[in-house]
Amino acid sequence: MAEPQGNSSNQMNQAEKRRQLKLSFGSSGGGYGSGSSYQPFVEKFRMCQSIQSTGKLQVSPTLVYDFTSDDLQDLGEIGRGAFGTVNKMVHRTSNTVMAVKRIRSTVDEKEQKQLLMDLEVVMKSNECPCIVQFYGALFKEGDCWICMELMDTSLDKFYKFIYEKLNQRIPECILGKITVATVTALNYLKEKLAIIHRDVKPSNILLDKRGNIKLCDFGISGQLVDSIARTRDAGCRPYMAPERIDPHRARGYDVRSDVWSLGITLMEVATGHFPYPKWNSVFDQLNQVVQGDPPRLSPNDNGNHFTMEFVNFVNTCLIKEETQRPKYSKLLEHEFIVRSDQESVDVAHYVSNILDSMANNGATMFTMNQP
Ligand code: ATP
Ligand code: MG
Repeated sequence: MAEPQGNSSNQMNQAEKRRQLKLSFGSSGGGYGSGSSYQPFVEKFRMCQSIQSTGKLQVSPTLVYDFTSDDLQDLGEIGRGAFGTVNKMVHRTSNTVMAVKRIRSTVDEKEQKQLLMDLEVVMKSNECPCIVQFYGALFKEGDCWICMELMDTSLDKFYKFIYEKLNQRIPECILGKITVATVTALNYLKEKLAIIHRDVKPSNILLDKRGNIKLCDFGISGQLVDSIARTRDAGCRPYMAPERIDPHRARGYDVRSDVWSLGITLMEVATGHFPYPKWNSVFDQLNQVVQGDPPRLSPNDNGNHFTMEFVNFVNTCLIKEETQRPKYSKLLEHEFIVRSDQESVDVAHYVSNILDSMANNGATMFTMNQP
């Protein structure tokens, strides 16, 4: 998937990182979560598209189960995206409740390969506290079932509830913790796993009542998303950087495209609305994102008051010229990140209160504001 583009020495570094990753997959112990059984899993995916497969489910570092879809009891739909649905399910044997993302079987061979790469990445990412934990995967009738940690809500539902139902704003200290977690996760993906996320947006940032903030969906199909970006469907991808949707640009892109998406995401959750006016057509979108000025956060936005550090951070992410946009190492040094990282904030308390309000409002955390 997201092999970063760049000069040849950079490409060699990435290739070497990939090679090392592949090697470490073959040599570590203990189930899919830690990678040892990955190869059989890949083979099954390639060969048994129409047969129900058995997978390995690693629910804790020491507990690994063989499982099929029959071992999972469906507790209802959590959400629906462009590539499939996410359901809450319980693994009966271990009594583990999880989120299961089922990706439609209509993907072609190239896209399937992409999916495998994404799974490979997820399997290696369990050590980062800012990335949603992966338990395992299997295939049923060609569909890929990805089992992961169940979180309580996603940032899109969360912020919309706060702005639209509670008429409140998300405090900047909470935005700070969201920013630190997201940049930490993105930096981890890039530095440790040599990948670019490609789909940074509020629905891929998840929260729970213990105060965890975690990134998920490492561009479930970065390649697919990229090809969509070059077609008329670009309108489905409103968080994409100008360089990604510009039809005249053949060149690839690097982490800085995700930095742009982070900027759009932060601006949206900080102000309560998507920063561009509604696009009537893809032409409109291309025109505004590729030709127009980038969105700019101001310290006083519609009754919001932001510190200059936050405003500067968001606007730095939204520098239109990608070569001027910082990468993660620079962002991690930004005073907003440094301050937010050091700040003591009771995220658990804040998130639990909002989740309680969501529940009391009769809105299940999982079904509100679905597109
Ligand atoms: P897109 O398909 O464009 O990427 P999306 O991110 O909303 O959009 P999905 O990734 O399929 O689509 O997720 C659908 C919804 O399910 C999300 O909006 C989120 O609210 C919820 N969700 C996804 N994963 C989890 C999880 N691990 N725990 C709890 N909720 C989740
Ligand atoms: Mg998602």
